[in-house]
Parts: sequence; structure tokens; C-alpha cells
Amino acid sequence: MFRRSIYKTPAQLRSMVEPGLITAAALDAVRPLIRAGVSTLELDAAANALILSRGAESNFQLVRGYRHTICVSVNEEVVHGIPGSRVLEPGDIVSVDCGAQYQGWNGDSAITVVVPDPERPDLVARREELSRVTEGSLWAGIAALATADHLGQVGATIQAYIEAQGPSEVSGETYGILREYVGHGIGRKMHEAPSVFNYRTPDDGAEIKPGLAVAIEPMITAGGEATFVEDDDWTVSTVDGSDGSHWEHSVAVHEGGIWVLTAADGGAAGLARFGVTPAPLA
Ligand code: MG
Ligand code: MG
Repeated sequence: MFRRSIYKTPAQLRSMVEPGLITAAALDAVRPLIRAGVSTLELDAAANALILSRGAESNFQLVRGYRHTICVSVNEEVVHGIPGSRVLEPGDIVSVDCGAQYQGWNGDSAITVVVPDPERPDLVARREELSRVTEGSLWAGIAALATADHLGQVGATIQAYIEAQGPSEVSGETYGILREYVGHGIGRKMHEAPSVFNYRTPDDGAEIKPGLAVAIEPMITAGGEATFVEDDDWTVSTVDGSDGSHWEHSVAVHEGGIWVLTAADGGAAGLARFGVTPAPLA
């Protein structure tokens, strides 16, 4: 059977710029709303309104059985939480995952935000550190894309970054990396081959070369790696009740280097500490 190459043409990669920027804008619209007293359904509505205003559509709504624009995962929930009537409380750690499809091409990105809680500075510090470590592992993995020759090195880099952080100076805990959920290729479909692992694997993985477009998305806990799916059939929570964080970007590899499609600056700010300068798609 004919199998489409995982590598895209320069023109196809350019088609992914706009859906990436729309995805970034949707998360920018949600970020300031993540505060105490706001329902997770309100976050979903804000993301959907932004995506529609840009002439795009939610690609999460194209996933079979899913009717919302974002996934929103709170505290011990790590990924795939469903928006609803839940109202955010002070100190909550909130991961929001979102994607847009525009003219047949997709973007996919996730952020984590901690709701301020002046009464519990220790809790907030612990959760902000978890988010910072998770985001740091994402940028380390993206930076590896710029220099590595196989995708397996991205996962090894993310794992090494996480292992180097623990035990936490704030909580004394080591961090866990979810094993059952991984990143993926992205293009005409939100989820395409190849898988992008967040940990070391025996295989080298796909070759990193111009035309590769992947969503890298470490899912990290402040405890164990074991998870279960809640009774809603979607929400993935930690077995030990530890907090989760999820950060994600869609990234293109091209002749000139790498470009983070879901960051307005192409990833320049996040990559600077790794000595990598992103190159715009020509
Ligand atoms: Mg995502
Ligand atoms: Mg994804």
C-alpha cells in the first residue's frame, strides 16, 4: 500500500504557518482568563471564538467523540480533561491544550498556568516549578531538533532534562514522565506519524531532516508516572494524585533550520538559552 512520506515540501510547511499562529492566538486568548471563579467551559468558548474569528476551525472538534475546542486538565489531571462547569480555584494548576485547522493544515499547542493564591505561596511555588520544568523540557526537546539527526534524540534529551531537575528544591520530589501518551507528526491531520517520545527508547526513530513537522509535548508529573482514564472516558489523571503539567509546540524542520509554528516569534525566546536561533520559513 502506498504510504505518504512523513516529510513535507517547503510549500506544505509554509501552509502550516497560519494554523500555527491561530493556535497560538487562541491560547493567548485563554491565558488571561485562567483565574479563580472562571469555568473551564468559559475558557473553551474563548478559544473557539478566536479560532472562528480567524476563519479557521477547531481540530479538536474533528476528533471522533470530542465536542470541545480545548482540553483543560486541572491539578492531578494531566491531559485530555473536558471543559465543563468546573470553576477554577486559587492555586489550581491548569493545562490547556488547543489546536486550529486552517485551509486544511493543522496547529497543536499546550500551556500550563497556575492560578494565583496569596494564602498558599508554598503550593503555588511548587506548582509553578512543575510548570517551569515541563516547559523547560519542551524547549530542550525543540532545541535538540535543531542539532540531532534522529527523533529518538529528542526524547532522550527531554528525559535527561527532567532527570537533571530532580529532586525538586521546593518539594523534594522527583518528576515523572507519562509513558502512554506521546507527541506526533502534524500536517493535514493533527495526529500523523511519526510518534515523538518524551523519553529514551531503544529505536533511533525517524530521521530529522527538512520537511519534518512534529508536535513535541512533554507530560510531566510531580510524582509517579502511572495514570488512569477517568469515568468520562477522556480525562487522564495520576494514580498517586500528584500534579500534572503539559506543554506543547508544533515545530517545522526546513532547509534553513527549525521554526516553532505555534509561537509568534518562531521560538526565539524559548530557544535562546539553548543557543538555537530559529529560522523563518522562506
Ligand atoms: Mg495538543
Ligand atoms: Mg498534540
